[in-house]
Amino acid sequence: MKFVRYEYKKDIHLGILDGLSVKKIKDFTSIYDIINKEFELTDLCLDLDQVKVLAPIVNSKRNLFCLGKNYKEHALEMKGKITEEVVIPSHPIYFSKVGSSVIGDGDIITGHQGLSEQVDYEVELAIIISKEGRNIKTDQVRDYIFGYTICNDISARDLQKEHYQWLKGKSLDGFCPMGPIIVSFDEIPYPPDLKIQSFVNGELRQDSRTSQLIFDIDTIVSDLSKGMTLYPGDIILTGTPSGVGMGYNPPKYLTSGDVIRCSIESIGQLTNTLK
Ligand code: MG
Repeated sequence: MKFVRYEYKKDIHLGILDGLSVKKIKDFTSIYDIINKEFELTDLCLDLDQVKVLAPIVNSKRNLFCLGKNYKEHALEMKGKITEEVVIPSHPIYFSKVGSSVIGDGDIITGHQGLSEQVDYEVELAIIISKEGRNIKTDQVRDYIFGYTICNDISARDLQKEHYQWLKGKSLDGFCPMGPIIVSFDEIPYPPDLKIQSFVNGELRQDSRTSQLIFDIDTIVSDLSKGMTLYPGDIILTGTPSGVGMGYNPPKYLTSGDVIRCSIESIGQLTNTLK
């Protein structure tokens, strides 16, 4: 199933995307309400262009978990740029973004001019956890995944460096475009091997496959859950491939008016303009 959260006539709804139609889910407006639960569809069916698609999960109950340097070519392009010591990580690098940074497809990314002069893009496959679990074994991870979406891990590189920890530089308002939909686990062969790309003003910048992760989804979820319980609705951004703005020489940071399109096969496209 393809879950879409949307606004129609000033009300917020959850629906199932069927081709270019949206079928409304009865009673519920939050993904948290329906993860691995029964729900019914109503008779209301709308064309996708009649509704405003919203981010699938806003103000998440917990920070978004993120992976740093989880594609080899990206780890190499970032050598010495943020931190000197780690090139190819031997263990997953975790950091987080606050849930209030999430915006939806088509929303404006605030550039925070005057605060950051080095705003960058990162297309990422994000996974949504389906049930509570701790010390999850790698061969059981697939039972804990509700679905997949796209995130753009917008990053203020100068703030990442200045503050040493990445939380602030990754969490400014509007710094996590997400969506447009969540595709359920069963719709994509596991582990997912999907084309993942980003474009800035139509120019291809990132181009890889999700099978190229250094630490795959089984490893990430198993490792992250060691001694730390994961909960339904937790969001994990699995890392970005090479081709981020900072990786170019000279760097290609975003400027006002840039249109960033993130694309992952079988999920869709997430397009936002920076202002
Ligand atoms: Mg990232």
